[in-house]
This record gives sequence, structure tokens and C-alpha cells, in this order.
Amino acid sequence: MSRKIPLFINGEFMLGSSDHIQPVTSPATQEVLAEVPFATAKEVDFAVASAKEAFETWREVPISERARLMLRYQALLKEHHDELGEILAKDTGKTFEDAKGDVWRGIEVVEQAANIASAMMGETVENVAGGIDSYSYIQPLGVCVGITPFNFPAMLPLWMFPMAIACGNTFVLKPSEQVPMTPVRLIELFIEAGAPKGVLNMVHGGAEQVDQLINHADTQTVSFVGSSRVGEYIYQASTVAGKRVQCMMGAKNHMVIMPDADKNAVLNALVGASVGAAGQRCMAISVAVFVGESASWIPELAERVATARPGAWDDAGAAYGPVISKPAHTRILDLIAKGKTEANCLLDGSECTVEGMPDGNWVGPTVFSGVTPDMTIYKEEIFGPVLCCMELETLDDALAVINANPMGNGTSIFTASGGAARKYQHEVAVGQVGINIPIPVPLPFFSFTGWRGSFRGDLHPYGKQAVRFYTETKTVTARWRYDESEAGKQPNMSIN
Ligand code: NAD
Repeated sequence: MSRKIPLFINGEFMLGSSDHIQPVTSPATQEVLAEVPFATAKEVDFAVASAKEAFETWREVPISERARLMLRYQALLKEHHDELGEILAKDTGKTFEDAKGDVWRGIEVVEQAANIASAMMGETVENVAGGIDSYSYIQPLGVCVGITPFNFPAMLPLWMFPMAIACGNTFVLKPSEQVPMTPVRLIELFIEAGAPKGVLNMVHGGAEQVDQLINHADTQTVSFVGSSRVGEYIYQASTVAGKRVQCMMGAKNHMVIMPDADKNAVLNALVGASVGAAGQRCMAISVAVFVGESASWIPELAERVATARPGAWDDAGAAYGPVISKPAHTRILDLIAKGKTEANCLLDGSECTVEGMPDGNWVGPTVFSGVTPDMTIYKEEIFGPVLCCMELETLDDALAVINANPMGNGTSIFTASGGAARKYQHEVAVGQVGINIPIPVPLPFFSFTGWRGSFRGDLHPYGKQAVRFYTETKTVTARWRYDESEAGKQPNMSIN
């Protein structure tokens, strides 16, 4: 019998009363690993009410205590790193190494949350007028909501609730219904670290539950990570509902290869950056832009990419796992088929099998060359192990194509020229830039700064921007008079 995934409300795991239940299947075998109950409207209400009640006491907990909760949580996450990696690998299909990386990137955000006191310091100015001082406090907002996708079930919840809670807020998480097993373990460890009841809650579901959270009178902020289709909707709906919102969405990330780049470094970097994690990373390189003579490296690139073999999570020789679901598999194969009518297919992964696992959602590494901006495989986010190669004449041509693409999550340039790198970092309209680094994900003392169609909102996740997202500034202007004759007697309450 498969395990039923619990909701977590008011400090307790509960099985949920809904008869809307969805199976959680292994993408490698189709085995049903668990069942996830979608929360009823009453359960969503209960989660928000419990977070609202907990906020009244949690906001008063001294900031050092809130920081210590994160220190203990960080230690527990590290202690259980491999165990979390294994749970995550089984329901996402990621390789064990990749799954551990997912957990580790989340732990790094918890480390920053443990440093919350210095991040929440306000500002002061003495004598803004005679005898009058002004100073600001950073205060928490209340109940914050997080909605996360399937592809990083540890890292993405950890982008959100530790920073929100360290700031003094309480939280309701709605993780991806496709991979709910890891968040359950994240919560168990948070309780073990000493989290008070109601501070963190979790409900499961899809559009209906998300709508209820967005429109609930008692929620203050909405953080979303996922596809552009859903993110655009959530941004609109949340702003109409008067919420502070940040939506991290789809991507089409280009790597520019200048002819003076180190060829070996380029080819090695491109293999992992394009087909690693089956291409299901929002920072994966899905378009390689070869400038000038570097285009002659494309056949060798296809040979290298062909060596990346998919396999089971615990197969140490596998470069990546299956794609998440049957619908995702079908969609990717349809896009590869379309690509074959548009561009040159140098490597075709659409007929991929893995020995002993006939039912897995396998897609082999796939490479197209001769790709142009009008093609479907360029315009769509494929989110599979598929690399599109473009051949252009100059760096300016590359910049024109990349800046015309609606997405702006991440990009990189490989070159031996400081001048080319400087020009690229300055002129490219993309929020995260790698120079001789293929996947430039900023560490959590910075923020995750996708731009344009990859992001809606003003403040990005983690780092200083997350503190601003999860708080409001209060500015006090104060005048206290000192009366010598009253010194040592009653406090002077005079204000004029
Ligand atoms: P998705 O948009 O299908 O789902 C994300 C979340 O939204 C899930 O929790 C889901 O239950 C919920 N949801 C689904 N339909 C909804 C609806 N109609 N209304 C409200 N909520 C709904 O995304 P996914 O397939 O799980 O994840 C893959 C996508 O996430 C890719 O597009 C990828 O680029 C993107 N992503 C972006 C970033 C980033 O930082 N920019 C990071 C990771 C993933």
C-alpha cells in the first residue's frame, strides 16, 4: 500500500479529508510511491488561521532566538543531507549527486537566514531637526505563501520559508503535488529544530488551493516558482488581490561561445549545463550561440553530449535521470519531432531506453544545429535534455538575438577576452551572467535575479532582497526633551 502524504497544519501532520487524491509516481518506473490529498477549502483556511495566530507570538520572539532556530535547522539538514537526497532522488528521478546538490543549495539559504539580525538592521539619523531623531525598523508582515514547482523540491521551499520565518513572519507552503515527499521531511526536521506550532504550515493541491491562498484576506505575500503560464496568472491574480508578489518563471538560457574560448572547457561545460538534470533546471543552457569560427566545434560537441547517458538515481554512471512525468515526456518528444522539421538534428534522443527500466520517462541527449529565432524549438521552453545550437557572425549579433528573447533568467559567455566579457556583462539584458561559468546561480548572500519574462515582481528571492520582500519599513521620528530639574524623578513625558 502506498504512503499517504500528510498536510501539516498548526504543528501537526494530518492525513486530510479530501477525496481528491493524486498518485506520486516514480518517473523511472511508474511505481506509485505515495498519494497526495489535495487540501479542502476548510483545511486551507485552517492553515492560514494557524499561521495568523502563530504570527502574534512569533513576531515577538527575540531575533537571536529566531536566528538560533535556523542554526539548529541548518545543522539538522546537514546531518540528514544524504537521507534527504535519497528521498528527493526517488520522487524526482534525479541522480543521487544532483539530488544532494538540490538539498545543499537550500542549506546555504538557511545559513543566510541564521544571519538575520544584521540583515534586518534599520537606519538612523540623529538631529533631523533640533533635538529630533529619526530611525527605521524593519518589521515582518504576517502570513506569507510559497508555491513551488517539481524541479527543486528541497532548494525552492528553502529559498522561501527560512527567510520569511527568520524575518518574523509565518508561512503556508504549497509544494508541487508531483514531488511532495521531500517537503514532508524538510518540515519534520524543522520541528526537530524547535519550530513552534503554526509558524510553518503545508497544504497540497493545485490551481484551486493556490487561488484560495492568493485571495485569502489573511495572507500578505505570494512567492511563486514555476512555469511562465502559471506565474503570469499568479502575478496578475495576486496583485489584484493586493498582495506583495514575486514570480520566478520560465527560461531560455543562452551560452555565447567566442572563437577565442578554451574549446575543451566549452564542450565539457556544455554537456553538464544542457542535459544535466535532464535539462529540467531553470538555469540550464538550452541555446548555445557559436560566434564566428567556433561553429566548427559543433560536431565534436554533439559527440561529447552523446556520451551523457540517462539512468536510475543510484546508477553512479548515469549523467541524469528521467523527465518528471508522462505528459512532460510526450511534450518533449513532440518538440524534438517538430525540431527535426525545422533544424538539423545532430543527435536524436527520442528513442531512448534504459535497461531494466522499460517504463521510465527517458529522453536521450539531443542536439540541433542551424537553429534560428523563428523556430518552435527556439521559442518554446523545452525543459528536457535538448540543446539548440545557433551560428552567428559577431558578439553584437549574439547580443541582439539574446536581448530580443522574451526570457532573461541566466546566460553565460565563454571567451579569453576581458573586453568581450566586459561588453557582454554590460549589454546583455539578462539578470544572471556567467563568464567562463556555464550556470551562474548566485549564492544566497546575493539574490536570484532573473529578469524580464523570467520574473514578475520587484524583489527577488533570498539575499538582501528577500529581507525587503518579507518585511515592511517603519520610520520613527522622535523628540525627547531633557529637563535638568526633573532628572532622577519621574520620567519626563513632555512632548512640547
Ligand atoms: P508549474 O507552473 O506547472 O507548477 C508550479 C506550481 O504551480 C505547482 O505548485 C503547481 O501545483 C502550481 N500550479 C499549477 N497550475 C496552476 C494554476 N493553474 N494555478 C495556480 N497554481 C498552479 O511548474 P512546474 O512544471 O512544476 O515547474 C517547471 C517550471 O518551473 C519551468 O518553467 C521552469 O523554468 C520553472 N522554474 C523557474 C525557476 C526560476 O527561478 N525562474 C526555478 C525553477 C523552475
